[in-house]
Amino acid sequence: MLPCSLLSCNDGKTERKNSENTMSEKIPITILIHGGAGEIKPGFLTEEQELDYEIKLKEALDAGYLILEKGGEATEAVISAIKILEDSPLFNAGKGAVLSHDGQVSMDASIMQGKDLNAGAVSGIKHIKNPILLAQLVMDKSDHVFLSGEGAEEFALENQLEQETNDYFITPKRWLQLKNVLGEDSTHIKSIESKMDDKHGTVGCVAIDENGNLAAGTSTGGMVNKKYGRIGDSPIIGAGTFADNSSCAISATGHGEYFIRLSIARNIADLIKYKGLSLSEASKEVIQNQLADLGGTGGIIAIDSKGNYCFEFNTPGMYRGVKTEGKEGRVSFYEKTNEVR
Ligand code: ASP
Repeated sequence: MLPCSLLSCNDGKTERKNSENTMSEKIPITILIHGGAGEIKPGFLTEEQELDYEIKLKEALDAGYLILEKGGEATEAVISAIKILEDSPLFNAGKGAVLSHDGQVSMDASIMQGKDLNAGAVSGIKHIKNPILLAQLVMDKSDHVFLSGEGAEEFALENQLEQETNDYFITPKRWLQLKNVLGEDSTHIKSIESKMDDKHGTVGCVAIDENGNLAAGTSTGGMVNKKYGRIGDSPIIGAGTFADNSSCAISATGHGEYFIRLSIARNIADLIKYKGLSLSEASKEVIQNQLADLGGTGGIIAIDSKGNYCFEFNTPGMYRGVKTEGKEGRVSFYEKTNEVR
């Protein structure tokens, strides 16, 4: 049985007090990842499946952490962790992404760095192996922030990003999932609602590097049976992804429509920056009050510029992990308990 060392938030207040006492104390390099939130309860996965998720999440966590350990930038760490999760069929991103109503995969991704508020995002991607690399390319090599569909893919090809056929992304599990959804209910909106429980698996990462720079990234196939070019929160800067060295870095997962309406990631950052809330207070307010009151489900991973980190979700579980300097990396799936560093 997976040793689910439960993890949630270290307490921003405690951390602030510590840093006042030891002003010169170095902020520990830290990386957090998620692989989606939803009806993930004990018994939901077999022991073998738990192990598969644990191994892959740890691999992503370790790869990102290694970059930070070698003095690399938070952005690079976030990209490398997300790329590993995109390449795994376990998650709803890259290979293994959920299917749209037409039986194709259509992916969204975004990246943002806190040092300069630079960002890149893409949506409706059908042939690029790693959408997160395309989001990075948009950030680094274009005059724009957000590219979509064919234009985004044209830009990817001009820059020699690795391509795949749409079939490469499709797994038997996702075929079955779409078939079940369509069989149960042919009105796509209703079936999206009713199958929320099956669609977790969006991936995301936030990190702080040795220079105290923050970064956040998110990648997804969106929601199963989506139609009409639907775009969720994941590629929307301020909704599914946000990073600002003056507040925090956030990556979200959940029912995207609600996350867009509440500008979830930016909302949390603003509560910290303008209202003086700690990271965990701001995250709780937005996820447990605002999101829940509106009827939305999901969660976030977050880290602030002092190195406080936080997982907050209003679903039974969330695939998640954290590795911070001087401590063992930990991966968890199920319900959370508070943890103070
Ligand atoms: N937020 C994603 C979307 O709505 C889905 C998810 O996180 O599971 O597209």
